[in-house]
Amino acid sequence: MFTTYSLMSYWLHKSFLSTCWTAFSNPLPRSVPLNFQFRRHCRVWHGSCCKKRNNQGEIMEHVVFDGAEVMVGDPELLQSKISSIRLDGPSKLQVIADFDATLTKYWIDGQRGHSSHGLLQQGNPEYDLKRQKLYDYYHPLEIDPTIPLDEKAKLMEEWWEKTHALLIEGGLTYGAIESSVAKSRIAFREGVTELFELLERSNVPVLIFSAGLADIIEEVLRQKLHRSFKNVKIVSNRMVFDQNGNLVSFKGKTIHVLNKNEHAIDMAGPVHDRLGDANGLADDSSSVKMRTNVLLLGDHIGDLGMSDGLNYDTRISVGFLNDNIQSSSDSYRNAFDVVYMNDAPMWGVVKLASQLCSSAAD
Ligand SMILES: [Mg+2]
Repeated sequence: MFTTYSLMSYWLHKSFLSTCWTAFSNPLPRSVPLNFQFRRHCRVWHGSCCKKRNNQGEIMEHVVFDGAEVMVGDPELLQSKISSIRLDGPSKLQVIADFDATLTKYWIDGQRGHSSHGLLQQGNPEYDLKRQKLYDYYHPLEIDPTIPLDEKAKLMEEWWEKTHALLIEGGLTYGAIESSVAKSRIAFREGVTELFELLERSNVPVLIFSAGLADIIEEVLRQKLHRSFKNVKIVSNRMVFDQNGNLVSFKGKTIHVLNKNEHAIDMAGPVHDRLGDANGLADDSSSVKMRTNVLLLGDHIGDLGMSDGLNYDTRISVGFLNDNIQSSSDSYRNAFDVVYMNDAPMWGVVKLASQLCSSAAD
């Protein structure tokens, strides 16, 4: 029943977690019906056989699901949040997702997948090198815990603006973005398309927050998913190109790692601007803010800040713990309602979203 991969993971975690494992003989179908019965099919949350108490007396569930491992720190709290969101209905729900290593895979063919920013080859080695030098200088500052947050925010803004200036100065074209994406090592987690489709059917907006570049993310969506979604909106830095496809400027306020949150929504445009679809997200930014229940997806604890600026009622947070599993396990379990480990597919989130969008009477 266990795959080799699952067994390796099992032995890795067995030493430090009080765990209970189960496997599912029937993998989730590619198309998940809206009336999916979460309780019956997904023992992640409800299987009493999976509940044990660890040394701290906390309830913990840890299961294998479709080859993915899941941690739920407080199943009762999670269940009450699910019930509350279902009661309010899909019209009150919005999904907030980080892009890199959350919607996309962390590992691809044994190598780190590209980030939306990292994949960009400007077509000008001199400027690629200049941007790398900026990274070498600013990244250590980004992760330095001794720098106060307000000071760090200024440094991040400085880094982003210098990088953007280099992209303009170095003559970036839209064609270079298209070819960079085509050559890149980037792929969505399995189930992302189905998740977007399910949420589109339920008219639930998906806001993808990124400190990267909206135009690159849109190109990745276009090349890898081959379709657009009217409910998906990118909240990121947006470029302006001239008639010849040369980058000439950036729109709006710079979005960096420390301000990618609901405050930044107003400058975002619909994902399919370039695909000729006249109708964007049905909700404008003010109506999105009326959706006070949130399903948040991220791969860093800092991603929880994406809901800053929204006065939400109920938030279910899902974390993807892709690396440093052993050292980060406790902090992720405490920070997120649900944690998927080892670069898991999106199927568990598809089930959760299906449950949240189904009628409370089901
Ligand atoms: Mg990320």
